[in-house]
Amino acid sequence: MNTQLLPATDESLALAARLLADGQLVAFPTETVYGLGAHAMDAQAVLGIFAAKGRPADNPLIVHIHDRSQLEVICEVNEQALRLMDAFWPGPLTIILPRKDAVPDEVTARLDTVAVRMPSHPVAMALLKACNLPIAAPSANRSGKPSPTSVRYVFDDMDGRIPLIIDGGESDVGLESTVISLAGDRRCSLRPGGVTQAMLEAVIG
Ligand code: AMP
Ligand code: MG
Repeated sequence: MNTQLLPATDESLALAARLLADGQLVAFPTETVYGLGAHAMDAQAVLGIFAAKGRPADNPLIVHIHDRSQLEVICEVNEQALRLMDAFWPGPLTIILPRKDAVPDEVTARLDTVAVRMPSHPVAMALLKACNLPIAAPSANRSGKPSPTSVRYVFDDMDGRIPLIIDGGESDVGLESTVISLAGDRRCSLRPGGVTQAMLEAVIG
């Protein structure tokens, strides 16, 4: 497969949106690291992410959205989740919530929960809006390699494996998103990241 590396423009984002709608993979910048995206409700497309990365199928993916209304078919939203979304979205906070049936098992690794996030990077936002699809996206590296903050590393790992990489310059956080679970009776912090424990506690106690 020939891999195109294009700067983020209206044209390249429109191409990216068409590829995603067609079930293909596109790498794009976020404020944490570069993501490797696929249409989250298309199981076949999501399987492509695991193949391109060499990622074990039991490692669930984060679903990226640009508008909260997209969550309706993805997860059950609760009061605490809404407070965190108000405070930290768009931004580097991933929230785990009870999933809905429409989400393919490939995304959630067959768990009864799903991870969701709204990224703040303008290119990620523009792409999510252009395709208007929920996009499952782990970091755009081969499994076991560092998460890429620069498009050069994305190209090194994904050349020949995906049709398109959108260049949006360096990712500025370089730190992965904080992951918090609000799915059970008790909330629990699953991964430290851009949003600190103190910042979370200031909002939900
Ligand atoms: P990555 O996309 O590589 O940054 O990894 C996403 C991480 O989010 C996974 O490795 C899990 O640690 C976490 N995650 C995603 N979905 C779930 C879920 N449903 N339950 C618990 N953790 C999750
Ligand atoms: Mg990763």
